[in-house]
Amino acid sequence: MKHPGKMVPEVIKSLFKKPATTSYPKEKAMIPKNFRGKIKFDSQACIGCKICMRDCPAKAVQISPTDKEKVFKAKFYLDRCIYCAQCVDSCPRKALKSSSEFELAHYDREKLEEDQE
Ligand code: SF4
Ligand code: SF4
Repeated sequence: MKHPGKMVPEVIKSLFKKPATTSYPKEKAMIPKNFRGKIKFDSQACIGCKICMRDCPAKAVQISPTDKEKVFKAKFYLDRCIYCAQCVDSCPRKALKSSSEFELAHYDREKLEEDQE
């Protein structure tokens, strides 16, 4: 480095600046409005049309019938989901919603298959 002294004002300035990052997970993360987190399924609203399955680019959602007539359940593959919310946009019955849930990492891949009814 040719002129190390040039850095001194910058170093002093940064000593008094508020940090640009938060100390997550110690501090709670700020979730922006319209954040696309884990998808939530509303079985009361679903009509089983499977448009969400057709439009999902990651094949991360599966809709199937339950024992009850005209009631459907959803399976989400959270390891495949890219949280694009295309399924939310495609659903004609507003049966899918993005949530603010984002802490989804797991050591066991099978635990990333989630059934919602
Ligand atoms: S698009 Fe909506 S209504 Fe159709 S199967 Fe998917 S969740 Fe159900
Ligand atoms: S958020 Fe995107 S990737 Fe995830 S299930 Fe919906 S359409 Fe598929």
